[in-house]
Amino acid sequence: MKLLYEGKAKRLYETERPDELLMEFKDDATAFNGEKKAQFENKGRMNQALSLLLMQLLEKGGVPTHFVRTIDEIRTIVKAVEIIKVEVVVRNVAAGSLCNRTWFKEGEALKAPVVEYFLKDDDLGDPMINDDHIRELNLATLHELAFLKSEALKINDILKPFFLKTGLKLVDFKLEFGRLSTDPSTIILADEISPDTCRLWDVSTGEKMDKDRFRRDLGNVMESYAEVLKRAEDAVHS
Ligand code: UDP
Repeated sequence: MKLLYEGKAKRLYETERPDELLMEFKDDATAFNGEKKAQFENKGRMNQALSLLLMQLLEKGGVPTHFVRTIDEIRTIVKAVEIIKVEVVVRNVAAGSLCNRTWFKEGEALKAPVVEYFLKDDDLGDPMINDDHIRELNLATLHELAFLKSEALKINDILKPFFLKTGLKLVDFKLEFGRLSTDPSTIILADEISPDTCRLWDVSTGEKMDKDRFRRDLGNVMESYAEVLKRAEDAVHS
């Protein structure tokens, strides 16, 4: 199969169908725009499992996603989309770059979710952009952007209570959307939702259970990913 794209954590291959792609999760981990690198056995498998579980939950909640079917533990068939080069971040609690850019202290609760946009461009270090930049750069129309924002908030309204049920606080997360190759007027959720792209803190201990364990050398990275997956699987089956 022809490799179409290799990212930091996933590969995308062509399939025999033009409207479908094969997505493969890798065990590679990167942070700080690729400066810090490592490999974690089973990360690909765990991220695919959690991402699938969450996407199925979102589908049930009326959020269309790119997921079509599973091939094996690290590979799924997804709908072919043109990725919109805007990373949509939703925050419930202050952390990460928000604290570096503003007066917020890590852990401060936000009164209402904060939505931010970042330009998906590694060479530029994914700078934060606003709705006017998005319009001027022709990344999305204002109509599409309004959809991205309402979809992101809807996703937060589904994921936040779900994670709370598992004893995890959904601090923040990053989403990517794409236009269907067969119908560019339809926008669906793409990419992944995993501890690589979310901040999740244990409700009772405050322990970080996400990629910050790798970013900040806190240890037990995969143990935390496995725990998040186990709690999510238990919550779905309960
Ligand atoms: N995030 C991501 N990919 C990126 C940048 C951020 O998945 O390229 C996620 C990150 O894991 C966190 C949220 O988006 O859950 C907000 O990230 P932030 O802006 O705080 O940046 P960070 O300090 O994590 O680089």
